[in-house]
Amino acid sequence: MNKYLMTPGPVPVSPDVSRSQARPLIGHRGGDFSGLFLSIEAKLARLLRSGGRTVIFPASGTGALESLAASFAGPGVKALSVSCGVFGDRFREIAELHGTEIVRVDIAPGEGVAPEAVADAVAANPECGVLLLTQNETSTGVLNPIDRIIAAIPKEKRPIVLVDGVSSVGAMPCFPEEWGIDGLATASQKGLLTPPGLAFVWLSERGWKAVSERTCPSYYFDLERQRKVLDKDAPENPYTPPVSLYYALDAALDEILIDGWFDLRRRAASALAAGMEALGFSLFVKDVNFRSPGVTAFSFPSGDISSVSKALKAMGIDTAGGQAQLKGKIIRMSHYHDVRWPEISLALGALYAALGPGRAGCGDFMKAAFGAWEGDQHGDV
Ligand code: PMP
Repeated sequence: MNKYLMTPGPVPVSPDVSRSQARPLIGHRGGDFSGLFLSIEAKLARLLRSGGRTVIFPASGTGALESLAASFAGPGVKALSVSCGVFGDRFREIAELHGTEIVRVDIAPGEGVAPEAVADAVAANPECGVLLLTQNETSTGVLNPIDRIIAAIPKEKRPIVLVDGVSSVGAMPCFPEEWGIDGLATASQKGLLTPPGLAFVWLSERGWKAVSERTCPSYYFDLERQRKVLDKDAPENPYTPPVSLYYALDAALDEILIDGWFDLRRRAASALAAGMEALGFSLFVKDVNFRSPGVTAFSFPSGDISSVSKALKAMGIDTAGGQAQLKGKIIRMSHYHDVRWPEISLALGALYAALGPGRAGCGDFMKAAFGAWEGDQHGDV
């Protein structure tokens, strides 16, 4: 039976990306590795529309969050932490563990973060030197408008802005320099269409200056230490890197850096959403402007959602369930990879079959999905 990986990380990687990992290994001290590194760096710079350097750690996304927290937070620092789900909570927890005093802004799961709410919280808490945000809240499928959130804060009053982009970078615009992000964390296994194992940190000039003025309590995740090796004529990784994953990343970035990639991801999300709604599922994120182009969460008001995920699994389709208080209440289906009409129709056809007797009341779900795929009537995200 064919298997279809539709979890929000890891996501399926293309045959080219898989095969690239079988290339012979090269040593990581020397010109060949630096060449690979520079190729990746140039592609990341195009993706992020920034000339800045990106630090790459062999780690998962949590490692990148830990690096940001260790570098900017800690005893004596007060941080404003905006969370609308499990991953916003995790970023906060990591900062707290490093000794940071946290001022919380909590948004209900399924709802997005309004720019004015953050601007008001920043104005009310001028002693907070750091702001923690999540671009794409993977636990609910919410995409937060990071550009508008930062723009709503007067420039001279802006704390250091740290963004969890673990499940956004690669699948949706994320332009840290243009938007005023100071520290961005991401990982390989979602929007970057690469196997798990690489974590990334990008810093603004202000961010680099701030880390140079502090002592990082971590050896491995010390960004200054990383920067020294990056600034060599032939940049490299200070510690042994998983070279095969770098091959994969280099190949995957070519697949992402095509014209219209972000539009394709958004169109796929709109088409799946329209089809799911016509099938009788309820989209967890009600406001279309906050719906993620990478992952969609849905419930089944007239039936048992766990029977739907079991039926999908029996057909070879792997999705993810809800986390924390959403356990057993939603399914999360991802569409980070090159999902187009054939994959959309497969997913919706499988959902139809998975509905059991409930399918009798289905509307014309394919027509609804195809209309959205063709017309992208769900507006701008
Ligand atoms: N932040 C977000 C938004 C995520 O989606 C995830 C992973 N689902 C993480 C952080 C943690 O990443 P990892 O599992 O790679 O450590």
